[in-house]
Amino acid sequence: MRLILLGAPGSGKGTMGEMISRATGFPRISTGDLLRKAVREDNPVGRKAEAVMKSGGLVEDATVTELVRERIAAPDCLGGYILDGYPRTIAQAEAIEAIDPARPEIVLDRAVGEETIVGRLSGRRICPSCGAVFHVVNMPPKVAGVCDACEGDLVQRADDAAATIRERLRVYHEATAPLQARYRNKGTYRSVDGEGFPEEVYSRIAGVLAGPRPSAGKGRSA
Ligand code: ADP
Ligand code: ZN
Repeated sequence: MRLILLGAPGSGKGTMGEMISRATGFPRISTGDLLRKAVREDNPVGRKAEAVMKSGGLVEDATVTELVRERIAAPDCLGGYILDGYPRTIAQAEAIEAIDPARPEIVLDRAVGEETIVGRLSGRRICPSCGAVFHVVNMPPKVAGVCDACEGDLVQRADDAAATIRERLRVYHEATAPLQARYRNKGTYRSVDGEGFPEEVYSRIAGVLAGPRPSAGKGRSA
């Protein structure tokens, strides 16, 4: 299975990607996680990406594509993978089609209202040590401000500040939303209601994934 998770920031891509990965065994590849790792390592990619990410903009297509190209060449991706947060532009969609022409088999989009998005992002807290994600209301840690998994101090992501959230949403509507039409034309697009608790959303997703697969190449010859 090659799955692309589309959807606005705060639509729950990461949480759903993890749940799908646990259920299917396919690795979840998050370009946001790969970029944040590069920033932590302070390597050339990270140094280029840090300011752009903080402002809510998109990192250069070529840079992100190179991260994805390397990652999906790894043996654990042979049978399939779950792309979370890539492609995010038409140029990236073209790039992944060139790297892996038969793919994607399914593109899953989560429909979520703007209020839900802002609530999810502004309440999100992450553990910088182990990467665990919490939410002050929806998924609170056992002890406020402390990671359940490793007892690290939880922080807010730099780009979850209110002003940056608005910019990320603007960029999403401008650069990423146009991908919906592209994948609808290919017959690989599936939309799921993303409102509600993670378990509810996941059971809707599981229903879609258990349903008929779009046939390969549908719509391409038209
Ligand atoms: P979210 O979907 O909640 O915005 P991500 O972790 O997917 O969070 O992405 C965080 C940031 O990383 C983005 O705002 C952007 O700056 C950068 N980024 C992630 N994926 C891409 C991508 N495919 N292309 C360009 N920039 C990306
Ligand atoms: Zn932790």
